[in-house]
Amino acid sequence: MGWQIVSNFKYTKLLSERKCIFAGKMKLLVEELREKRTLGDAGLMELLTSEDPSADACLFAAARETAEAHFGRQVFLRALIEWSNICRNDCLYCGIRRSNPDVRRYSLSRESILRCCENAWRLGLRTFVLQGGENPPAAEKLAGLVAEIRASWPQAAITLSLGELPADTYARLRQAGADRYLLRHESADPAHYARLHPAGMRLENRLACLRTLRELGYQTGMGMMVGSPFQTTGNLLADIRLLERFRPEMIGIGPFIPHPATPLGAYPAGSSERTLRLYAILRLMHPDALIPATTALSTLRPDGRTAGILAGANVIMTNFTPAVERAEYALYEGKASLAVETAENIRKIHEELAAIGRTVSPSRGDYQENHSQDTDNHV
Ligand code: SAH
Repeated sequence: MGWQIVSNFKYTKLLSERKCIFAGKMKLLVEELREKRTLGDAGLMELLTSEDPSADACLFAAARETAEAHFGRQVFLRALIEWSNICRNDCLYCGIRRSNPDVRRYSLSRESILRCCENAWRLGLRTFVLQGGENPPAAEKLAGLVAEIRASWPQAAITLSLGELPADTYARLRQAGADRYLLRHESADPAHYARLHPAGMRLENRLACLRTLRELGYQTGMGMMVGSPFQTTGNLLADIRLLERFRPEMIGIGPFIPHPATPLGAYPAGSSERTLRLYAILRLMHPDALIPATTALSTLRPDGRTAGILAGANVIMTNFTPAVERAEYALYEGKASLAVETAENIRKIHEELAAIGRTVSPSRGDYQENHSQDTDNHV
């Protein structure tokens, strides 16, 4: 039976029955991956590159089922607070890189950050993510505020994403009450990493930071952009293997999106299809991991959040940065949710999730090994 003669209607119906319509190689690879939670290089390459139209259906259905077995039909929401765009780094892809003179630099005041948390808490969010440019002295000072947030919302989780910092700063922030830390490794291949970053930045340092974070007891997040300039499929394979060795609690992956005021601004955006495949592959390899359907994916396709969840993601980050500053935290062009009011955005997410049979979890959404839907004890 040729693909061309399967009518759209029939295809959709078969998909909804979650059957792989083209049994065969893809199905076997997906089943092997699901069962062993790993696959040889050739198998992973095949899953990443296959143009077999059944590949996505098989892969996404298996990833969804795995996510459901571990988390039920619940999705965790995170409140993203972009607390400052002042950055000492000059990453070649990033819109808030130090040498972009067009950015009006800001840092949110203590009061403003606390208001963001209050707003997020009232709307039911139980994780606050403070993200910002890399600025070690400012990060050090943030410890006081982290302690204040911890005291005011003892039941909320605090996630930080502030780049590479000295070990004692990570320790102080952890001591102050931070639970999790996101630090994407960006590329597991040192040569590729070097083409995305200025001379002073090294993959080795980033990995050393990740090990420190883990030793300090942070739930740790890693990840990379999909389709970043010069990236090969072999690079992605190396990323998958690095994630497999490190086994981070959180895996953040989004497509590269060019920012015109950066040296890599003329390169094309990464593929959203490939991003979804990576969500699914990584879900099958890391059944317990917290995997967000990222904002970058929603920027490339309006249904990015639900598409991500249907490919095995189980977290949605939603932006609580005040509108004025939000516009100045442009990592890439056309960032989704720039124009949307926070409360309106949350309502929309609830609706979108309901439409695919999912609900928002009332819990903090910590990493738990062998997490299953009835071990939800973190409210
Ligand atoms: N300073 C922090 C936060 C960086 S921004 C840190 O160093 O970790 C968070 C993530 O946004 C980055 O890790 C990067 O993977 C992603 N990002 C930056 N520029 C991007 C772009 N042009 N397209 C897509 N993602 C981008």
